[in-house]
Amino acid sequence: MTAIPAGQEVTLHYSGGLKGRWERRKILWEGWCFACQCLRCKSPSELGSHFSTLICGGPGGDGSNCRGNLLPNLDPNLTTLNDVTDYECDFCHSKADGTTVQKLEDQLTKAIESTFTDDIEGLESILDQFGSKFHPQHYLISIVKWLLVNLLGRKPGFANSQMSRARLEGKIKYCQDYLNALDIIDPGISHNRGRTLWEMYSACVFQSQIDFQNQTISKKGFQDSLPNLRQILLEVQRCLRFSEGGSFEAKIVELSQKALISVDEINKFLDMMP
Ligand SMILES: [Zn+2]
Ligand SMILES: [Zn+2]
Repeated sequence: MTAIPAGQEVTLHYSGGLKGRWERRKILWEGWCFACQCLRCKSPSELGSHFSTLICGGPGGDGSNCRGNLLPNLDPNLTTLNDVTDYECDFCHSKADGTTVQKLEDQLTKAIESTFTDDIEGLESILDQFGSKFHPQHYLISIVKWLLVNLLGRKPGFANSQMSRARLEGKIKYCQDYLNALDIIDPGISHNRGRTLWEMYSACVFQSQIDFQNQTISKKGFQDSLPNLRQILLEVQRCLRFSEGGSFEAKIVELSQKALISVDEINKFLDMMP
């Protein structure tokens, strides 16, 4: 949900916006009988969200992989469903054919489908296996990250207080990648944004606590992180304030109000500390 300036065309995605280019266009073609020509479909990088971008595995300069963005060369007319001729790296310009890309996406889809949605190690191993081939904001990778964001900190044995700093850091990164894509494909306030920000807040708090206890950040460093946490909490409330009473989201709003009070109390306490 976002502000709409006077005169701007109002559009709706019909198919669910959190899907990749090929999947969205197939749904629109088969269900609504048209080849979508929206700005997002016309943009190889999906307006910079990289929701359907792969990573170039060609040789880089220093013996490593290139890691440029592998983007589709689109038929500019977008009049049919088969509008992708091939893919090209935006850095080294090496090419990949559409069938190879499709196969990779199918492999990743199968890996997700054959993993239990609460299997943290299984989901993490999907990221290990496919993370070098897909953009960190690719929609299939985003699905895995969304599942992990909601498991880490909640699943028994993986409470925030039980997780290592590395896992907390991983969770924060998954949240950031997901939010970066949302900023473009679903800007403004939304349930997804509110829930992701809440998960990010929780992980940030525990990470800061570990750092403060281990004295890897100073009192000042810790205190400097509080305005950012405050900002996240206010945004959580803005996103979820219309949630139905008794819902999971309404509970998060309640918890975020308490968290806001704690952040302010911690700030006052630190002020008094030598
Ligand atoms: Zn479109
Ligand atoms: Zn390349």
